[in-house]
Amino acid sequence: MSMGTCTIQTDQTKMLELKQRLKHAEVRKTPPYAVYQIKTSDCVITAYESGKLVFQGNGAEEYAALVAPSVMQKAQSRPTAKKAQAQPKEIYPQAGSDEVGTGDYFGPVTVCATCVREEDVEFLRELGIQDSKAIDDTAIRRMAPKLIERLPHSLLILDNATYNRIHGENNMVAIKSRMHNQAYVHLRKKLGSLPQFCIIDQFVQKTSYYRYLKNERNVVYDIHFETKAENKYLSVAAGSIIARYAFLKSFDAMCEQYGFPFLKGAGSRVDENIREFVAAHGKEALFQVAKLHFANTKKALG
Ligand code: MG
Repeated sequence: MSMGTCTIQTDQTKMLELKQRLKHAEVRKTPPYAVYQIKTSDCVITAYESGKLVFQGNGAEEYAALVAPSVMQKAQSRPTAKKAQAQPKEIYPQAGSDEVGTGDYFGPVTVCATCVREEDVEFLRELGIQDSKAIDDTAIRRMAPKLIERLPHSLLILDNATYNRIHGENNMVAIKSRMHNQAYVHLRKKLGSLPQFCIIDQFVQKTSYYRYLKNERNVVYDIHFETKAENKYLSVAAGSIIARYAFLKSFDAMCEQYGFPFLKGAGSRVDENIREFVAAHGKEALFQVAKLHFANTKKALG
């Protein structure tokens, strides 16, 4: 989908709220019968006296979803609405979340959701937060404490023993879904209410995500899912960095506790690492430090 157009019917209050939220947008000459027209990097928004809001451009659906969240849901169910090339949406406040540790045999799974407000943007840019995957561990250790201090956030760490205990009934995607949801529930509690724009770095289809939450007592709805979101949204990038930091700290603590040089990842070198660990600490101790269902367990121990 290239140039999208989205029209929704709303009221004056919502129109003015939207204009207020997008106060960084360029204000254009007001067309006839319109209340205002503004332009963001990828969307022209016209508010009409009749209560009609018209969104035009690549970002049409995402901006329309700010006023009517169901717009995004409909858009996502259409295969043509893939937003792989979408531009970053500079909408604040925003909340975003990401997880770390799901590809590592050793160590916990961590998830962090953060809230970024307009007044945090400059601070984050100066810190150099963009592509969090490209940031090395040393920089993660330097940046994360500053983010933790500055941003409202919710961090969850699922230790290996608990992970192994629940993994039978819940696959990895189910576990991640529940953790992300839990992070938003906690963040909502902290803030009183969540920003209208919440983003998950997409690891599963939105419909599956909500299916995994069907037995949860509290579910946060209307979340926007996007792949590579850690490169596009400051809130997701910040969440990713804090989650990575928490993972590193847990990993350090494990290495110290066992006096053992655990390896990250899940490649063939890890198989050898597993054998060494078991030789030193016994097979039972693996339950405390590894994700046992990974194929590495069988490869290493037969
Ligand atoms: Mg991710």
